[in-house]
Formats: sequence, C-alpha cells, structure tokens
Amino acid sequence: MNFQKILDEIYAEIQPELSRGKVADYIPALAEVKREQFAMTLTLPDGSVYSVGESTKPFSIQSISKAFTFTMALDIYSKALYERVGVEPSGNPFNSLVQLEYEHGKPRNPFINAGAIAITDALITHYRDEYKTLEAVIGFVRRISDNPEISFDSIVANSEMEHGDRNLALARLMKSFGKFENDVQQTVMTYFKHCAITMNTEELSRAMLFLAFGGTDPISGKQFITPAQAKRINAMMLTCGHYDASGEFAFHVGLPAKSGVGGGIAATVPGVMSIAVWSPGLNQYGNSHAGTLALELFTTKTGLSIF
Ligand code: GLN
Repeated sequence: MNFQKILDEIYAEIQPELSRGKVADYIPALAEVKREQFAMTLTLPDGSVYSVGESTKPFSIQSISKAFTFTMALDIYSKALYERVGVEPSGNPFNSLVQLEYEHGKPRNPFINAGAIAITDALITHYRDEYKTLEAVIGFVRRISDNPEISFDSIVANSEMEHGDRNLALARLMKSFGKFENDVQQTVMTYFKHCAITMNTEELSRAMLFLAFGGTDPISGKQFITPAQAKRINAMMLTCGHYDASGEFAFHVGLPAKSGVGGGIAATVPGVMSIAVWSPGLNQYGNSHAGTLALELFTTKTGLSIF
C-alpha cells in the first residue's frame, strides 16, 4: 500500500475541516494554540515512518498520557487495580462529577479524569512520592518512544492548576469516600504534569508501537508489558478512549485510540502499525475534530480497521 499517497490525500481532503472545532480554552495555555494545524504519522514495525503536515511540531498530549499511566499501573497492581477503577464506558463527559457521586467515589474507567487521577494516586502510593512518580512516568514514555528528550511543559501544567477546581473536586470527592490515598493537591498537580507531556506526532506514533504489537516494541525488541496486558489497554482505548463519543469513534473509525484536549489522537492498528494525528480544533466531546475525520478517512481508504 502506498501510505504516503494515502496521507497526502487525507491532508488535502481535511483542509476545509481545520477551521472547525474549538481549541481547549479552559486551559489558558492551550487557548493560545493556533487551531488551523494538522499532522499525521504512521509508524510500521520495520521502522518506516510516513508523515504529513506539521509532524515535528510539539503539542500537549493531555489525556493521551492516561493510556501510558494506565499501562504502568496495570503492570504494577495487576487485577487489584480494578478495585480502584472500573473498566466500563462512562457515557459521560470526561470531567463529570455526577456519576462519581452515585457510584460512591469509584471511577468508571481509567480514561475519564476521575479514573486517571485515581491511577496517579495509585502510582504515587507505589513510587512513594510525587516526584519519583513523575520521573517514572516520564521515564516510561521516554523508553517506549525510544527518545530520552521527551519532557513536560510546566507552563501548561501550572496554567491548568490555576483553573483546576473541577479536577480537584473529583479528587476531593473520591477522598470523601475513603478512596484516595495521597495528598489531593500534589496528586492532581502530578496528574496535570503528566498531561502536559509534550510530543509531536512522530514521537507519539513511535510511543504507541508496543501497544500495536502485543506489548513488545518490534523495532527495539524490548518487551514492556505482556500480550494479555496489551489486549486490555487496547480494549480500554476502544471502549473508553473518547469518553462519551467512544461508541461513535468505534463506529466511524474502528481502531483502539486515545484522544487528548491538546488535539492529539494516538491509535493502534493491532499487528500492523501505530498512528498519531494532531489538530487542535476540538468537537463538542473534547476530541480533535479534524483528527477524528482523518482517522476515519484512513480506515476507509486502507480497510485497516479492527472490524
Ligand atoms: N488535563 C486535562 C483535564 O484534566 C485532560 C483532559 C483531556 O485531555 N480530555 O481536563
């Protein structure tokens, strides 16, 4: 298949969509990002990389980091993790408080904000403090992307904390149910910092490759997790990766994928390749508008979906 030609076609077809959607203005540092931008990268197991658009331009990966922290926590806690967080789609917006109240402080899944904050809490308990936790998360992302340069943007993290009341409320609500082990402020700040990890589509696509290949990076040969764990993370991305639009995403795109309000989407085509796409304009669910359409065009043109 001529992947470069397919990407070039997608790039041309997506242009009218780039001025639609809305950047994530509830995080002031992200409100400044220009909406009309687009990048897409495919990484194949033989190391070949195909890109289009601004694929070397860094962006805030935001909730895509939840796929990485969930991977780490699953590896550390195994089945005991499911006592802290469920594995069902929420059908609610990513920052909703309502469900958490009537489900007694146990988040539905690790990809809504409450679930990801609960995962950060579990990681801090394991690594003993928030600095070691952040170091471990960044270290893990560096290893899976085979890139020691990956880091986070403290301006974005601080900007989010200044307006972080809703996420702090989620953490406090969990604490009120006795389902939170560490300091609320420090835990939420650590969560904001891992959300503020900065990558471009080339780096992000590379970082996802091990998840497309059963937990082992086919380029370096390094095994990060077991095939059974990789299966669970892909299943979680398929069913919960786009919050209350997860069903729609599976319906139109048909790939396990995780989105972030920075406009990125990281996807796997299991056994075939990994993909990252970025365009900052978001739809009403907080997922990249043009990014979602680009992935739909990709699976339509190539027939590469899991269905
Ligand atoms: N850091 C963001 C938040 O907590 C992540 C949300 C997202 O990317 N969907 O609101």
